[in-house]
Amino acid sequence: MMNRLQDAIDFALTNGLIKYNPQFKLTHAPFSLEPFSITSDRLNAIRESTPVFNELMIHVGKDTDFLNESLEKAAKTDGFIRRLLQILNLHKGSHHLQISRNDFLFTEDAESPEDNFPKQVEFNTISNSFIFLTKPAFLLHRYIYSEDPEVERLVFNDPCEEAVDAIAEVFEYYGKPDARLLMVIQQEEQNLFDQRGLEYRLLEKYGIHTVRKTMGEVARQGSLKDGHLRIEGDTIALVYYRAAYTPNDYRQEEDWKGRELIEASSAVTCPSVGMQLAGAKKIQEILGKPGMLERFLSAEKAAGIRSSFAGMYSLDEEVQGKTALQLALESPQDFVLKPQREGGGNNLYSKEMVEHLKTLTNDQKEAYILMERIKATPTPSMLVVDTVAENRDCISEVGRYAACFFDGSSIRFNRDIGYLVRTKAADIDEGGVCAGYACLNNLKVVW
Ligand code: ADP
Ligand code: MG
Repeated sequence: MMNRLQDAIDFALTNGLIKYNPQFKLTHAPFSLEPFSITSDRLNAIRESTPVFNELMIHVGKDTDFLNESLEKAAKTDGFIRRLLQILNLHKGSHHLQISRNDFLFTEDAESPEDNFPKQVEFNTISNSFIFLTKPAFLLHRYIYSEDPEVERLVFNDPCEEAVDAIAEVFEYYGKPDARLLMVIQQEEQNLFDQRGLEYRLLEKYGIHTVRKTMGEVARQGSLKDGHLRIEGDTIALVYYRAAYTPNDYRQEEDWKGRELIEASSAVTCPSVGMQLAGAKKIQEILGKPGMLERFLSAEKAAGIRSSFAGMYSLDEEVQGKTALQLALESPQDFVLKPQREGGGNNLYSKEMVEHLKTLTNDQKEAYILMERIKATPTPSMLVVDTVAENRDCISEVGRYAACFFDGSSIRFNRDIGYLVRTKAADIDEGGVCAGYACLNNLKVVW
């Protein structure tokens, strides 16, 4: 075991499966030694749902009226959503690239097969991590299991390669040969190498250069020329947000100015403000209501993804003769309370949820949703965090990455490009890898 652990760590460090720890020391990214077994039926189901979910979200993201209507009440007390809506209404963006990830959990013991359909946790539209680190994570398992015949069952994964191809197609569309990619970043980034891996591959394969800037730097160093975004003399064809999804990224008015400058330009954004807002928890709740999917998709496509929606409610909504809020107070173990935030660590569970629910005013309630707790079945797994291995009962969350391009009038491409598996100890509620909750993992297909 000891050698196997050291071998795995050496491989991770050699192949760039790395991150900074919270003290900004270099370490390997946390990983699981055992892949997550998935049946081919389930794997196919989530893979096949990728283009449908992405088509749905593109239609939602460009429906400004729907976004305004749906988020209006949350925006009353949520200043972050309010400001994003203002930008949306000023600059109704046209073309945008989507590098999304749709996350699922799996239940085993539901009574009807319908209930055992993979359940969507959420659709992430902005700043999706691990697009690069998933490849060294896959190579790590292929190495560890190189003498095991089961190695054949590991599901190949390299979403970065196709993300880079998608970015290159957007550059061709934009038609400015010397233009650069602007990666909008946070000042301090533990997951730096996941971003740089994509940057280096883009340069190597397509000769496209990347500029890394915070929104404040964009405000200070950027300008518009004939509608094009210019940063220090370079034209930007595509703005790829790896920040800007949390109020923490907008500490000063200048940060909002940077965002507004980008959105006022003709650069393609990944994502658009509309897509960012389409990823709000409130929108997910509304899309789960009867007839809503059909508003954006054909009846056939809507039917295909309907069963992946878990129960989601506004707090005052009536469910089985009670308000959802009352139900959550009575059975906290069955619910998750979610504000309109991304990036992990914002949801509330159990006692904390109950305490918080009791403090909310009627207006504040509109800024949250209650979601049915998806109860995945734990399986044992060896987790390796900062060189320490620990055997835990774990649950795994599987996300499907997609790359899609909407040119303002039609969807030019919409493809599934790979997956993310995050495995975490079953007694931990949250799911983020860099937030320290979960470990990178791979899929192993079983029949
Ligand atoms: P964020 O946008 O902050 O990542 P998510 O809605 O994705 O918020 O939730 C964060 C994590 O919390 C998920 O990765 C998952 O592990 C857990 N989680 C979220 N919703 C549920 C749910 N309905 N049932 C069980 N776990 C959940
Ligand atoms: Mg999320």
